[in-house]
Amino acid sequence: MKIGFIGLGNMGLPMALNLLKAGHQVSGFDLAKGQLDAFATAGGIVAANANDTAKDADVLISMLPASRHVEGLYLGDTGLLANANPKTLLIDCSTISPKVAQAVAAAAKAKGFVMIDAPVSGGTAGAQAGTLTFMVGGDAGAVECARPVLEKMGKNIFHAGANGAGQTVKVCNNMLLGIQMLGTSEALRLGIANGLDPKVLSDIMTKSSGRNWALELYNPCPGVMENVPSSKGYAGGFGVDLMLKDLGLAVENAENLDASVPLGKLAQQLYETHSNAGYGQLDFSSVFNLKK
Ligand code: NAD
Repeated sequence: MKIGFIGLGNMGLPMALNLLKAGHQVSGFDLAKGQLDAFATAGGIVAANANDTAKDADVLISMLPASRHVEGLYLGDTGLLANANPKTLLIDCSTISPKVAQAVAAAAKAKGFVMIDAPVSGGTAGAQAGTLTFMVGGDAGAVECARPVLEKMGKNIFHAGANGAGQTVKVCNNMLLGIQMLGTSEALRLGIANGLDPKVLSDIMTKSSGRNWALELYNPCPGVMENVPSSKGYAGGFGVDLMLKDLGLAVENAENLDASVPLGKLAQQLYETHSNAGYGQLDFSSVFNLKK
């Protein structure tokens, strides 16, 4: 199968590498030269631009930062919908606004394409290991067509509903994740202030009712866990500004529907304070060091 892949960042690069390992021909594009070099070294075909990745592709995958990047990629005269072959199955894995996902999918349908939203969970470690969870929005038939490709990058593939539903699930999940990371950081800081060893405290809470993903798999306190961003100077991983974007999507979504998300709003304010202090590019677990 020929696959085009646009957006070879912290997540996109390891996802594309898993498609290569599975024997697919993958043509990729990113704006950052360093990412293209890493992709080429692993055997990927570097395309000259985004539209070039779609040439002869059976499937095209995008993994971009936010809504505006996805709109820019697909829409307009120079966008993919105006230039790619409508037989190409379009899969957007970026985390974006459910409304934008619906609008882009509708524009794709109007041009004869089939498109699904397939945001992911599992972090960069899940992307590398090929164990991501995909939350997919779109027609059931399209989801089944995409499944063999998604299975090369993930372990759990869920059909959430119509176009945009994958993004809605992702928004709910990441609001919970953002809150969990703040709560986990607070509990660890309180223990440390009391003289506890954060590793001992983490081990005990992991077997107690405070256990959660941030504590067990992505501990925010440096030195507690190997191979997580907190033990690598908070480099790589999932950026503070990306978490801030997702909390913005959650709060905006809640306001449109008059749903109550007071903790989501507070989390948004706290990550914003952290970003404004100059830490927007660090991994989101760096809120462990939030000064407030
Ligand atoms: P990233 O910033 O590391 O990567 C994004 C890449 O897109 C960059 O390399 C950038 O150069 C490239 N890019 C931007 N605009 C482009 C364009 N027009 N054409 C080609 N390339 C372009 O971000 P990431 O961490 O890989 O996240 C990507 C998406 O996945 C985001 O929506 C994020 O919210 C979501 N996500 C991230 C994680 C994580 O742990 N990092 C986990 C789940 C979901």
